[in-house]
Amino acid sequence: MAIHLQHRRTRNVPKDHQTRLILWDIDHTLIETRGLGSQLYRRAFEVATGRTLEKEADVTGQTEPAILTATLRLHGIESSDLYQERYAQALAKEYDEHQDELRQRGRLLPGAREALAALSTHSRVIQSVLSGNLRAVSKTKLSVFNLDQYIDFAVGAYGDDDVHRPNLVAIAQRRASQKYGVPFTRANTVVIGDSTHDVSTGHEGGAAVIAVASGRDDETKLRQAGAALIWLDLTDTERITATLTVQNGQCGSGTDNVIEISPADRDPRGS
Ligand SMILES: [Mg+2]
Repeated sequence: MAIHLQHRRTRNVPKDHQTRLILWDIDHTLIETRGLGSQLYRRAFEVATGRTLEKEADVTGQTEPAILTATLRLHGIESSDLYQERYAQALAKEYDEHQDELRQRGRLLPGAREALAALSTHSRVIQSVLSGNLRAVSKTKLSVFNLDQYIDFAVGAYGDDDVHRPNLVAIAQRRASQKYGVPFTRANTVVIGDSTHDVSTGHEGGAAVIAVASGRDDETKLRQAGAALIWLDLTDTERITATLTVQNGQCGSGTDNVIEISPADRDPRGS
């Protein structure tokens, strides 16, 4: 099985614009750590600085280095490469050591595995991650919930790659273009995430965006942020697959509102 999946990841894909790079956000889009993330962040901060975490910075939509810089500032400490390095090592270690707890306490969001699995069967789809999480933490989070088999981590972009999240889009596109020999632009790259930051990251960084209202930001906020297509969750596998694998259309038009939605895509909440 592992060999088969490894083969799939390095497969040849059709080298044209119909091949799509789908970049998933992790927290509140695919999984939730349900408080464990905050606990491990607290421990990593203490290991990195020798100080007790007294105040927490806003973490939503931020990269890990940006979160640490803001947190250090709240404690009157200037960020440095040494702190960043120590923190990154400590956080990766915490996640590595708490995999069982994450499995028990955290949760896979409804439909996430089915969506990734269904998309992974399409020859023109490459799935990876665009996350403020560190690369090592991204891998741990997704492997704990058995989602790693659908993700090509080599072509994703992570908090370790750039402190400014929108810059991650071009990094992922470059990696995917180099590996698969397909040019990835706004027209064939889709960022899928739960926060208004994901929406602005995609638009600013150069990708289409699909928002999922499974996090703190509701449909109204996501729409105000410019999301043209919003899913309430990931449970409608058929629609998700149909939207992301249209054969005779583009997922991006080159403008900010890159995905057109039909009324059928706008199910009322709770349906
Ligand atoms: Mg998120």
